[in-house]
Amino acid sequence: MHRVVLFTWLVVCVTCAAVVAGQENRTGTGGASLQLIDDLVVANRILANEGILDGLGHISTRHDSRPDRFLLSRDLAPGLVTAADLAEYDLEGNPVNGQAPRGYQERFIHAAIYKARPDVRSVVHAHTPSVLTFAVSTIPLRPIYHMAAFLVPGVPMYEIRKVAGHQGMLVNDMRTGTALAQTLGDKPVALMRGHGFVAVGPNVPEAVSRAIFLDVNARVQLQAIQLGGTVNYLTAADVAPGGGQTAQPNQTTAYPRSWGIWKERAMSR
Ligand SMILES: [Zn+2]
Repeated sequence: MHRVVLFTWLVVCVTCAAVVAGQENRTGTGGASLQLIDDLVVANRILANEGILDGLGHISTRHDSRPDRFLLSRDLAPGLVTAADLAEYDLEGNPVNGQAPRGYQERFIHAAIYKARPDVRSVVHAHTPSVLTFAVSTIPLRPIYHMAAFLVPGVPMYEIRKVAGHQGMLVNDMRTGTALAQTLGDKPVALMRGHGFVAVGPNVPEAVSRAIFLDVNARVQLQAIQLGGTVNYLTAADVAPGGGQTAQPNQTTAYPRSWGIWKERAMSR
């Protein structure tokens, strides 16, 4: 009889702990939905697992009930991020909770883009080597295949040297963040000279998809150039409505099918 009582007590305690943990998460992320929180945690793990992010780089999402705020991990390697590590920021890059742990220095990338682009609900910033190749070259990054049709409108290059008075390569204040957002304009991707890139999307899975297919495109484009001959890039005509093609510049890049397998690979490690 005592064993039954003890077992029941343990079950109740474990359940209470889980509920409290959930409440802590909701408090730390300003009432964002649990689905959004889960997507952001999974996105961190996917981008690390797929080699887009290493110990550096980050992904954020706009808050789903407070569009003037966004969620981003504390200063932590993306492959280690859990729900408890997420913090809420305003569109100036300030933590909403004054007691929040130290954040990423480059959170202003996210703040400035959300401020400038109401359509953007997720932002990825990464230093992926394949893309970095094109961020230091005069050879433009161009769309190689249909999964990278989102590159057809063009890929602008951010030059931080043009931000008067700024020293260094980090986008670590709103001035450099705003200049980056201006360079991005209405595009889904911008390269950052000598640094990396930003990719944005209308939701978390789409931003993740774009970052992953951007990496594939960069690797294949480099191989095609090395192969020699004439490289046939996608053009606006390839993705024109009614042209019989499947990919449009603003079309979703095959998630949720891809998202499902990326998530399984990342979360089963
Ligand atoms: Zn960076």
